[in-house]
Amino acid sequence: MSYKAEYIWIDGTEPTARLRSKTKIISDGAEPDTWGFDGSSTNQATGHFSDLVLRPVATYPDPIRGGSNVLVLCEVLTVDDRPHGSNTRALLRPVAEQFAGQEPLFGIEQEYTFFRGSRPLGFPEAGYPAPQGGYYCGVGADEIFGREIVEKHLDNCLAGGLTISGINAEVMPGQWEFQVGPLNPLDVADQLWIARWLLYRTAEDFGVSATLDPKPAKGDWNGAGAHTNFSTRAMRSGYDAIIEACEALGRDDKPREHIKQYGAGIEARLTGAHETAPWNEYSYGVSDRGASVRIPWQVEVDKKGYIEDRRPNANADPYVVTRLVVDTCCTALDK
Ligand code: ADP
Ligand code: MN
Ligand code: MN
Ligand code: MN
Ligand code: MN
Repeated sequence: MSYKAEYIWIDGTEPTARLRSKTKIISDGAEPDTWGFDGSSTNQATGHFSDLVLRPVATYPDPIRGGSNVLVLCEVLTVDDRPHGSNTRALLRPVAEQFAGQEPLFGIEQEYTFFRGSRPLGFPEAGYPAPQGGYYCGVGADEIFGREIVEKHLDNCLAGGLTISGINAEVMPGQWEFQVGPLNPLDVADQLWIARWLLYRTAEDFGVSATLDPKPAKGDWNGAGAHTNFSTRAMRSGYDAIIEACEALGRDDKPREHIKQYGAGIEARLTGAHETAPWNEYSYGVSDRGASVRIPWQVEVDKKGYIEDRRPNANADPYVVTRLVVDTCCTALDK
């Protein structure tokens, strides 16, 4: 007997990378090993030097195929065994290791939007649906579009062994959210990429596509973000560390450095309207959904807990976002 391993990797598409996958048949008793692919078809190589290497880094039960089949998350390497330029996971590894002693944890809220053809799911053929107001955490066929896909995706994530902490309908028709974590930097980012792959794959069977476009509908409609909740052991036990993390994110050139790498098209989403802070002004505050970084109300009461960086776009790369947040906050908290 043998089993199927779906090798999943992140390509080199600019400015936002896409997921790719292909299947390998592996004989029973053998582990998924190193494989290769044609990098000239994924914006990762030229046709003349096209071979790139897939190195398995994490394996999950495959909820789509079931049985003993698996999903295999890979890093992309060159044939001389170096991380490919598109391999942002390789940049996170040393930073996560350097600050592992502070026990950083992340919970990431992934917002996304379903489309059927060129329209968000729930938008009429022509014109617009009723304005925002009733859709967020709504119920009923006039407010909710795609719940059967969302439920199936949640079940698939759980069957795949992912740490999902919840799901909810968002403020625009066809817009939803799931949360991954709390987990350490590498695990949260690995699992978020796998959860994204499962989202596309699950929706595919319904003839629906999902997009992480940060501004999927122009006009008076909320964008889609990836709010990034973060704590260290010190932040989970005292308020001084909470404030220091908020201050560190606003110091020197940090706001600009982070914004630049928080996902393509971020200026169009962080306008200052629709529960966002303007992209070019850093702020933090308790309970403030109009701030760049929010200290949840309960955290101020308890004088410990976590902070929420509300700036990352839905299309941000979690390997990049977690590296920046850990590097900025843990360096400051080390002092
Ligand atoms: P919101 O009120 O912003 O919509 P959510 O409930 O969607 O918040 O998401 C909160 C996230 O914070 C969850 O992913 C949860 O796992 C995460 N979280 C909770 N506690 C911590 C913590 N101590 N450190 C990091 N993340 C945390
Ligand atoms: Mn071929
Ligand atoms: Mn949320
Ligand atoms: Mn949300
Ligand atoms: Mn949030």
